[in-house]
Amino acid sequence: MSKELNSYQIAQEQIKEAVKKLGLSSTVFDILKQPERELTVAVPVEMDNGDIRVFTGYRVQHNSALGPTKGGIRFHPDVTLDEVRALALWMTFKSAVVGLPYGGGKGGVACNPKEMSPREIQRLSREYIRAIAPIIGPEKDIPAPDVYTNPQVMSWMMDEYSKYKGYNDFGIITGKPVIVGGSLGRNEATARGCSFVIREAAKAIGLDMKGATVAVQGYGNAGSIVARLLHEMGCQIIAAVDSTGGAYNPQGLDPVKLAEYKKENGTVKGYPGSKEISNEELLTMKCDILIPAALENQITEDIAKDVQAKIIGEAANGPTTPGADRILTEKGVLVLPDILANAGGVTVSYFEWVQNNMGYYWSEEEVNSKLEVKMVNAFNEVYKMFKNNKGVDMRTAAYMVSISYVSEAMRVRGWLGQEPAVAKSRQVNLA
Ligand code: NAD
Repeated sequence: MSKELNSYQIAQEQIKEAVKKLGLSSTVFDILKQPERELTVAVPVEMDNGDIRVFTGYRVQHNSALGPTKGGIRFHPDVTLDEVRALALWMTFKSAVVGLPYGGGKGGVACNPKEMSPREIQRLSREYIRAIAPIIGPEKDIPAPDVYTNPQVMSWMMDEYSKYKGYNDFGIITGKPVIVGGSLGRNEATARGCSFVIREAAKAIGLDMKGATVAVQGYGNAGSIVARLLHEMGCQIIAAVDSTGGAYNPQGLDPVKLAEYKKENGTVKGYPGSKEISNEELLTMKCDILIPAALENQITEDIAKDVQAKIIGEAANGPTTPGADRILTEKGVLVLPDILANAGGVTVSYFEWVQNNMGYYWSEEEVNSKLEVKMVNAFNEVYKMFKNNKGVDMRTAAYMVSISYVSEAMRVRGWLGQEPAVAKSRQVNLA
């Protein structure tokens, strides 16, 4: 795989490899390599000074074989159609790996919310959701938050869609505030799911969580909560970095106090009793568990050759480059791929949608225990696929599990002609 590939091309390569390993025909790849439907919309918004600005937005529905498509909406200046396509495609496999009855979708608007007032963001949110309303719906395509969108934005979008339909439709979107149909436990779901998968991985390789050392890159929503949950499981958090600097203490950092310190000071740097540490030092330090929870392409080939961790839990999306993946596999590092390790968020989004459809709401304990079952089962399936197939790494194994589900749904729906089922030895529990 060449270094120049963009995210969309990388995602396509990952599918191609998994389809080949499963022994499926090229028809499966031909269907999965591109989205089923894409919509580009021009969104005129009145700015606070009275000017009209026209933003470009997208909604991409990658594959709906398993159910309605699902995926977040991103507000960011760099949003492009290719990026939204890649993110939609990843959502198909993220949902399938945890066995959700969803396909993958994603949306985005090229805009800079940091330069917009809350009223402008509200008008953009309402206009965008109206523009894509004809192709979304609780049985068709269900959006959620992503970069620079949040529960408030979801609430405005739900409200606008409800006006368009003429009745309250809470199930149109997930990640809403709890008062308007959001689920308890949604906020911590990505991190909680990640901590369950790491715990299972540690068990699988015989690593004792009590006293296991952890380094965390990115101390935001995902990173700081994974740190807290792993600490509660007995791990020792020895280092954390954010975009401004790092904190290291071989005796262990208190993850809750560190989060409070970051909230007050805007950085983890300078946390009392810690030494400074750089991003690169953190990624290559001696530790048992490494959590990339910041950005894409952080573990490059150069970094990978010096990584000392036994387990990498990808809370972030796409933190490891394909070249680095090969090096880590050769070194025997167990990489828990993003589509598995951070699938807790979409899983609790699914629970939110189920609760909205029933009109009956669960306690936080119920949400968390249902999440645990889904994440543990998903880990076990991926790990079994990894162990049973020589030359397959955990990322390919995760794609193989997902593609087994998606291709079987496509086969029984008659989308694949005479395609035989996936060979028994590679099947997951498709019964
Ligand atoms: P966030 O904005 O809350 O936190 C990001 C953290 O990364 C911040 O602490 C920031 O300072 C740090 N960071 C940014 N640039 C950095 C750099 N160059 N070096 C070191 N640290 C840097 O975001 P988040 O919601 O925690 O998301 C983090 C990652 O997890 C993203 O890849 C996101 O796509 C992924 N993710 C998050 C969720 C979720 O529910 N929050 C779900 C799925 C995936």
